[in-house]
Amino acid sequence: MRALVLCYHAVVEGEPQRLAVRRETLESQLRSLLRRGYEPVTATDAVERRGRLLHVTFDDAYRSAADTLPLLAELGVPATIFACTGTARDGRPFDVPELREDAAADPAAFATMDFSALRAAASGGVEIGSHTVSHPHLPRLSDADLDRELRESKVELEDELSVPCRYLAYPYGEEDDRVRRAARRAGYAAAFAVKPGRVRSDRFGLPRLAVYRHDTTAGFRLRTSPLLRRLR
Ligand SMILES: [Zn+2]
Repeated sequence: MRALVLCYHAVVEGEPQRLAVRRETLESQLRSLLRRGYEPVTATDAVERRGRLLHVTFDDAYRSAADTLPLLAELGVPATIFACTGTARDGRPFDVPELREDAAADPAAFATMDFSALRAAASGGVEIGSHTVSHPHLPRLSDADLDRELRESKVELEDELSVPCRYLAYPYGEEDDRVRRAARRAGYAAAFAVKPGRVRSDRFGLPRLAVYRHDTTAGFRLRTSPLLRRLR
């Protein structure tokens, strides 16, 4: 069985917006998985190894995700943050058409980590991956734009953080065969989707379980059940 890789976005104290979860929800989800015998592992182990393994990822590099890193360290759970270099240059609020209304209502909730915050996280042992430059729908891009989004973000993260950028998370989890080939060509070691398009996932379409505010404890428990995951 492949590692269980969770995909979170923002993590908040108060009422969560659509993509966010409450901090206490995240904590109880992780504690329950650890109690159930999941072994927390690094991103590399999550890609390479099989078993009852757990890895946590945060897409879009919200500052609120950075605030949970001490909690994850306390629980001993390694994490990966997937950052867009377009927002990391100045830590501006995450801005895509799909979330514009939510962001206007609560801009602080959409603040992102800038390169210095990402550097600090990386030096604390957090893996920093690419989430492209501008968070486009990759399958809709021309070959040239697709290559640019994948390569430029990788190069810029490596320049800014002085560590290899090994992993990619597809914006919106969207990928197809052409996008996977481009990710491989751009030099990534692996790439994370959400629900990969193909049933048999390879390392350029690694499945993740996206967790949102509506996930109840019972629903989360069911979705992370090893039996159900094996059946899928
Ligand atoms: Zn994203």
